[in-house]
Amino acid sequence: MPDMYDFVIIGSGAGGSTVAYRLSEQADAKILLLEAGGGDLPEAVSVPWRWNELLLTDLDWAYNSAPQPGLNGRQVYSAAGRCTGGGSAVYHMMHVRAKPADLDAWAYAGCAGWSFADCLPFYQRSENQLDDLNPTAGKGGPMTIVNAKDTGNPTSQVFLDACVELGYPLVDDFNATAFGAGWHHLDMKDGRRGGVLTSYLLPALARGNVTLKTRARATRLLLEGDRCVGVEYLADGQTQTARVEREVIVCGGAMETPKLLLLSGIGPADQLGQHGIAVAHELPGVGENFHDHPLVIGPFGRMAEPGADPRGNMTEVGLFWGSEPGLPVPDLEICLVHRAPFGDAFFANVVQRLQTGQPVASVAQLVDPHVILTLPGLVRPLSRGWVRMASADPTVPPSISCNFGDEPADIDRIVTMVKIGRDLYRTKAFAALGLVEVGPGPDIVTDAQLRAWVIDNVGSYYHFVGSCRMGIDRMAVVDPRLKVRGIESLRIADGSVMPAIPAANTHTTIVMIGERAAEFIKTGM
Ligand SMILES: Cc1cc2nc3c(=O)[nH]c(=O)nc-3n(C[C@H](O)[C@H](O)[C@H](O)COP(=O)(O)OP(=O)(O)OC[C@H]3O[C@@H](n4cnc5c(N)ncnc54)[C@H](O)[C@@H]3O)c2cc1C
Repeated sequence: MPDMYDFVIIGSGAGGSTVAYRLSEQADAKILLLEAGGGDLPEAVSVPWRWNELLLTDLDWAYNSAPQPGLNGRQVYSAAGRCTGGGSAVYHMMHVRAKPADLDAWAYAGCAGWSFADCLPFYQRSENQLDDLNPTAGKGGPMTIVNAKDTGNPTSQVFLDACVELGYPLVDDFNATAFGAGWHHLDMKDGRRGGVLTSYLLPALARGNVTLKTRARATRLLLEGDRCVGVEYLADGQTQTARVEREVIVCGGAMETPKLLLLSGIGPADQLGQHGIAVAHELPGVGENFHDHPLVIGPFGRMAEPGADPRGNMTEVGLFWGSEPGLPVPDLEICLVHRAPFGDAFFANVVQRLQTGQPVASVAQLVDPHVILTLPGLVRPLSRGWVRMASADPTVPPSISCNFGDEPADIDRIVTMVKIGRDLYRTKAFAALGLVEVGPGPDIVTDAQLRAWVIDNVGSYYHFVGSCRMGIDRMAVVDPRLKVRGIESLRIADGSVMPAIPAANTHTTIVMIGERAAEFIKTGM
């Protein structure tokens, strides 16, 4: 007999752990949480500034994209968390909500109940912000939010001084004021990484009604007619089955969630046919609309002296700005990173991991304390791509493409950010550190050269969304209650449901989506 649960949640990342925590508040609910990755996490996960050591290890799915036509056919490395906590266990902890106009646009496009005013109580429910710089910040929620300034490194202060020198306004809290430069707010507690693992998942497990199975990969949703009745999964080398009385909630992230639907016969009929999978329910939008914030590392430079010993998350400050006046939300986000792994040896490691699938040695030794990087991320990209099945074998990674650079305006705006970064490097504030630009470097001068350099270097911000988007049109995969359209007892609660990526880092909004999914379920919506 298969095991029977009230709920099965697939994936313990930002969305899945949030759903598990809220559903487990119902003491009589019996919940199974399946996680494809492991649960035995190294100490580096807890130390905020050691995030760079987690990339390319066993905790990273380390996808390689399909060749990107807009980038001269180059493939792009894409990190994603594969462990308890998912992306939340490897992320940089920057806590940035979507801007009001981002969410109002979702509602405007047909997602009734998703305006910023509707979502704000769910952001607040998740937060316990320790400072009072944002009058709308939540207090008493599971996630402790601190001001990066409290542990800030001196180099971060220099970045802010440089922004002021160029006339950018200072901002107290990006979640209160959208445009300007300032310290980030971070998902950290007592100097350690927060993340949904500590704030949502461990407390949920302590309640006793959640069974967590790690290294358990969901391979197929079990459907009877138009109803989802359970999940087939691989664990301990065996195919196992769990059935549900109430619902399955898929939270595998924007790459794996569409893949699981496709493996289950839910998706575009032609793609299913190509892989010999019978159509259970045709939904042409599964895997479409996949996108990310494109990001390039640059300019980057060397300071005369090494930076101070690390503390905090090493990505403490940023500048949110518009490429043109008159935009309702910033489309540019430039962050500063110091003590980051970089250079040829780091990229050799990336290639080794992508080609062999084997974890590489720690990248900590590749960190040069003299190096600082500006990370310009385009937070309102226009390009859209897809996730497709590469094989009907569930252990084979999906084929992914964000179609970076497909819209030329995306590249133009990244060039604008690199120019802003160069202006920052030329300020008196940075001159005092003896900063010398290494890349793009003195030979890259004209707009055409900068464009070519961006096309050669742009990559992923690891903010994957949109591949099972919410809506009411033909291409929508879930409805505004996050139910898979046309299938009973099946919801999605992760980054894949976003109709369009917000002008903000994505984790905070995905936790909010998890909060909303649980509320819909508990209130019978
Ligand atoms: C290196 C890095 C830095 C980042 N920094 C920031 C930041 O500072 N701020 C920010 O807001 N965002 C950041 N992000 C993005 C953020 O982490 C993600 O947007 C977020 O975690 C995605 O949430 P999710 O629920 O969609 O998926 P995830 O958090 O990725 O969770 C999906 C989970 O499902 C599991 N899973 C997948 N398929 C299956 C299956 N078939 N069976 C069982 N389990 C499965 C995965 O292993 C994973 O644990 C960062 C991401 C990375 C990779």
